Amino acid sequence: MPGAVDPWGAARGRVAQQAYYLRNPLEPAPGICYVCRGPAGPEWTRCYTCDQHLKAAQSSVADAVVPISYAVKGQQHAHALAAYKSTFPSKEVQTNLLNLLLLFLADHHGCVERAALVDTWTHVTVVPSTRGRQGEHPLRALIGSHLRAFPWVQLTANSRVPADLRAFHPDRFTAASPDLVGAHVLLLDDTWTTGARVQAAAYALKQAGASRVAAVVLGRHVNPGYGGWKPILNAIKDQPYRQEICAVHG
Ligand SMILES: [Zn+2]
Ligand SMILES: [Zn+2]
Repeated sequence: MPGAVDPWGAARGRVAQQAYYLRNPLEPAPGICYVCRGPAGPEWTRCYTCDQHLKAAQSSVADAVVPISYAVKGQQHAHALAAYKSTFPSKEVQTNLLNLLLLFLADHHGCVERAALVDTWTHVTVVPSTRGRQGEHPLRALIGSHLRAFPWVQLTANSRVPADLRAFHPDRFTAASPDLVGAHVLLLDDTWTTGARVQAAAYALKQAGASRVAAVVLGRHVNPGYGGWKPILNAIKDQPYRQEICAVHG
């Protein structure tokens, strides 16, 4: 339509400026985990860590896991995901990440819904901090009044579970909202490293009655020091981020 203004035009421009260091997750395949898009064994479609989570949670994990981009340790996106919540965060970095997340949800919420087998979301939440951070979670603060169409679920970290525990723990979080029976929850986080925290949050939501949970994360952490990542790093090396696709686009 001539003269139609894309309300997301400014956000698209912001994200386009980040394209040279963002990387779309690879499609699931043998050797690429369909959950986290990290390396799996050569014949496997699920990595060992995601497999452990699935078993420990007795399948009460996120129905869809959707990383927006890989975040390679030592590179710019991984840096941004740490810097946005530092003591003196850069406004520039925060604006970049907020635009990346909101534009992704605007463009691909239908893909995420399809992947999680839901018609629409009823609630939204973020994975809580477990490292003794005081006050509002930085991602929740960044989102502010955006996504205000949804009620937010209050998830709290259980202080009896050690914050630095890397494995999945079923009691790591508790969902406080009383009205979660049958809920479809959009669960947001900044970084997926092992996925243990995200899956523990999904587990807590399901224990509280949620029927479907989809996790959208800004960055799938990549550790180039681990040899298993090498084929993935080679495949994404010269592939700047494309806004028009997503990890569950197909
Ligand atoms: Zn995995
Ligand atoms: Zn999509």
